[in-house]
Amino acid sequence: MQDYDLVVIGAGPGGYVAAIRAAQLGLKVACVDAHPAPGGTCLRVGCIPSKALLESSHQFAALENRLKQRGILVTDVALDLNKMMSHKDRVVRALTGGVKSLFKKNGIDLHVGRGRLDGAGRVVVGDGQATLAAKSIILATGSRPASLPGIAIDHQFVLDSTDAIALASVPEHLVVVGAGYIGLELGTVWRRLGSQVTIIESLQRILPGTDCGTADLAQKLFTRQGLSFVLGERVTQVTVDQADCVVHVEGGDPVSGDRVLMAVGRRPHTEGLGLDTAGISLNQAGCIPVNDRFETAATGVYAVGDVIGGAMLAHKAEAEAVSCVEMIVQGTPADDLPLIPSVAYTDPEIACVGSTEEDLQSRDVPYRVGVFPWIANGRARSQGTLDGEAKILAHRESDQILGVHLVGPQAGELIAEAVVAMQLKATSRDLAHSCYPHPTLSEVLKEAALAVHNQALHI
Ligand code: FAD
Repeated sequence: MQDYDLVVIGAGPGGYVAAIRAAQLGLKVACVDAHPAPGGTCLRVGCIPSKALLESSHQFAALENRLKQRGILVTDVALDLNKMMSHKDRVVRALTGGVKSLFKKNGIDLHVGRGRLDGAGRVVVGDGQATLAAKSIILATGSRPASLPGIAIDHQFVLDSTDAIALASVPEHLVVVGAGYIGLELGTVWRRLGSQVTIIESLQRILPGTDCGTADLAQKLFTRQGLSFVLGERVTQVTVDQADCVVHVEGGDPVSGDRVLMAVGRRPHTEGLGLDTAGISLNQAGCIPVNDRFETAATGVYAVGDVIGGAMLAHKAEAEAVSCVEMIVQGTPADDLPLIPSVAYTDPEIACVGSTEEDLQSRDVPYRVGVFPWIANGRARSQGTLDGEAKILAHRESDQILGVHLVGPQAGELIAEAVVAMQLKATSRDLAHSCYPHPTLSEVLKEAALAVHNQALHI
């Protein structure tokens, strides 16, 4: 039996960040992960590899199409998919290796094997290769891809996101089920690499949860890029005959393709975790229930990240991990979690933080809207990235910024400024009266803030 102050199960962004923060605060820490390369879904098969492919596909599309318009003529542009995948794998190896180094530097023991609770206070690794005792245990076992009832993922024709970032050839027609972030990001990657792409969504809109106007605008732009959308149709079945995949929808025409990507969400990863030995039951959504201090029903057992539900995002898992560990060590109640932005790394990117117009309307919050299109931004013009707009929602009386919704180039980078502004409870006038460097994409935020009071200068 090895004794620790803290054992973390899962080495994704929730788990490895919890382990590092705890070691910084002086705890003796072990982290257990079933996979030898730490980093979780995010580093191995999620955020990082998908963005490596995204970036490569952007460069390919730029060489094939956009650069010609500027007089840069490149002939014989061809795709070596194998090499593109190797680049992605190298990025993943570098980053997972980086987490291993961070563990070493912080004196954290990494145990490779499945971890399971053996009552509160004890974790068994693998088939008993190690038993770890700890005063505190954090469960950060993340999530795995979900499918729809009756639709099996065969990993060859009917794919999950992990398969879709490791294809050996470009599908002729990729049918994506689900118009959330993962479906749109991977759909647009394969579109840029040459696939015909159809996205089927049961709701009448894409990107559930985002501001409706923002989602509508994004859909128009994606349609112009050649993506097809079938909205308001519920997928009931997928049949596969050789490479002929037919996606059946309730009351509508079936859609055929040679590959189907199921991007209908993710479910918490709790199998074999020994929760019953500590008296922990799952909630209806299959998540581990926690209170606002990340405590589960078992004393000394905490949970963070995708496994507790909410927005399944790496930075949300990290924020929870830090808050949970500081609460364990310092004994004070966890601070309110910071605002969690979300980004779809499509082209253009879609980035949001705070309330949507629909949220504010449903809560009868009085607000003003300021909108500024990228087409009127000098830097966007010179780059040739004119699609999209910035929208700021501010309280009608206090002027405090309540939500920021961006569709446009580098929206994912620009939203960080809005997060800081909102975290500091800034007003739209605070942004409008700040001096922004010119010419930059960030000027859209200043102009949208000016537009809240009908004072935009360049439109
Ligand atoms: P995970 O990262 O899932 O890590 C859990 C770890 O626990 C895994 O390593 C697993 O092996 C291990 N584990 C599970 N059970 C056990 C057990 N019993 N014993 C030992 N180990 C166990 N989020 C963003 O913020 N931005 C993005 O751009 C983004 N892009 C994404 C793209 C794709 C294709 C996917 C699939 C996801 C993406 N996400 C993105 C979501 C993000 O990856 C997750 O929200 C994040 O990884 C959750 O972190 P976590 O620590 O809770 O769990």
